[in-house]
Amino acid sequence: MDVWVTYSKRKSLCPYCNSYVTAGNPVLITQQYNKGPGGKRFRSRKYWHPNCWLDNAMYKLSQNTYPGRPGRPRMLQLSPEDSAKRLAILRKRARCIQRLKIAIKNGSVDTIIRLSEAIENTKEEIKPYGGVPKSWERLKS
Ligand SMILES: [Zn+2]
Repeated sequence: MDVWVTYSKRKSLCPYCNSYVTAGNPVLITQQYNKGPGGKRFRSRKYWHPNCWLDNAMYKLSQNTYPGRPGRPRMLQLSPEDSAKRLAILRKRARCIQRLKIAIKNGSVDTIIRLSEAIENTKEEIKPYGGVPKSWERLKS
């Protein structure tokens, strides 16, 4: 659909408010090509009061809810500093888990105990920075 605004050269009926847009006043024109019988395209134009077109558009928009931004919604509202601290703790834990897996494979009991404690401690560490992630509760190290 094409939309433009100009000065009206003639009197035309606004489809929104059913009163006339008179010559010399701003008019908003919408133009659309429709397929008629036999595949022939024909042009249809409407002449609106600019505000009426906008009112109509806003009304139609209000019939649908805003779909929101794409992707996963952000659950946490953290300052950049806190966000960085949270990320550091997440990484530290990931590192510990990685090393724990190796320790388990090697049967290094002391290391397993030490890392298990370190992993457990990250729960306390992360609490002030947006809380413990749900996935941590499920994780069996
Ligand atoms: Zn109007």
